[in-house]
Amino acid sequence: MAPTRSEAAEACDAFVVGAGMAGLAAAIGFARAGLRVVSAGAPERLGQGRTVALLGPSVDFLESLGVWPAVEARAAPMRGLRIVDDTGSLFAPPPIEFRAREIGRDVFGWNIENAALADALGAAAATQPGLVRVEADVAAFEFAPARATLTLADGRAFAAALVVGADGRASPSRRAAGISVGARRYPQRALTVLIAHARPHGDVSTEFHTRQGPFTLVPLPAAPGAPNRSSLVWAMNPWRASSSARRAPCSARCGSRASAGSSRSRARASRASSRRGSPWSATPRTPSRRSARRDSTSACATSRL
Ligand SMILES: Cc1cc2nc3c(=O)[nH]c(=O)nc-3n(C[C@H](O)[C@H](O)[C@H](O)COP(=O)(O)OP(=O)(O)OC[C@H]3O[C@@H](n4cnc5c(N)ncnc54)[C@H](O)[C@@H]3O)c2cc1C
Repeated sequence: MAPTRSEAAEACDAFVVGAGMAGLAAAIGFARAGLRVVSAGAPERLGQGRTVALLGPSVDFLESLGVWPAVEARAAPMRGLRIVDDTGSLFAPPPIEFRAREIGRDVFGWNIENAALADALGAAAATQPGLVRVEADVAAFEFAPARATLTLADGRAFAAALVVGADGRASPSRRAAGISVGARRYPQRALTVLIAHARPHGDVSTEFHTRQGPFTLVPLPAAPGAPNRSSLVWAMNPWRASSSARRAPCSARCGSRASAGSSRSRARASRASSRRGSPWSATPRTPSRRSARRDSTSACATSRL
């Protein structure tokens, strides 16, 4: 008699669905703990134009995985956080800046491009003993009390004692396991762009709080031909996000669109600071159309928050 699919399946202790940042980190962690792990999914290339700010526990976890030196080399430290009220209120509070050293730390955290973090994790996963990477999606899930059987799009099957669903917001594994989820939509979308600018960011993250949501510039490390770079996350209402993205189909125009808001906000902040005498020399200068075009790494995306 021919074996059933679950009898023919290759066995492992933990099967991680999804090879994004969370999936790869989990797979490396389980393998380092001594489990036989399979990590399934195409290498993550989503989130171009997006960055992630890594704070204390994330840094500690990446250190425990042994990947921190590779991540740190491609990340920018955040030593200061600057908050600017850009709501246009009559009685706006003055801009305020916090420094990590005020709480006895060198940095608040580190900012890195999603793609760079996925690269570092992918390189570590490729050489991690006990971890097998398969670059195919899971097509079918069968959950049984003792083991789950997972069938890949290429026909291979695996049996696992533990299934880790790291397959994103829509999570097919969560749906297949019958785990319900509560979702709440916010009337906000974020336009995300990587920009080059003329003046250094000084390792300071700057948040302009507008009536539609935050407009946040977060430091990035230098890239070839772009010594000063930041990522922009600009939250706005969905209608405005769609029209901004439509008008900014390429990286250069994204940069200049981003600069329009930045310019207005920065002008207000500069006016406020000159009234109050606070130093704004580290605020990135608005990127010019030419400097945005020069930034070969620029990319943009809109994301639902
Ligand atoms: C604008 C913005 C800014 C953010 N900033 C921060 C920040 O500063 N700090 C922070 O910590 N977080 C931040 N986040 C959140 C962070 O980006 C997400 O939490 C993170 O990207 C989620 O990663 P993930 O690996 O869980 O999921 P995803 O990146 O969605 O990856 C899921 C993966 O699963 C794969 N997959 C799906 N189905 C299958 C299948 N059947 N088989 C195999 N693979 C499958 C997909 O192809 C994908 O590769 C931000 C998010 C946004 C939108």
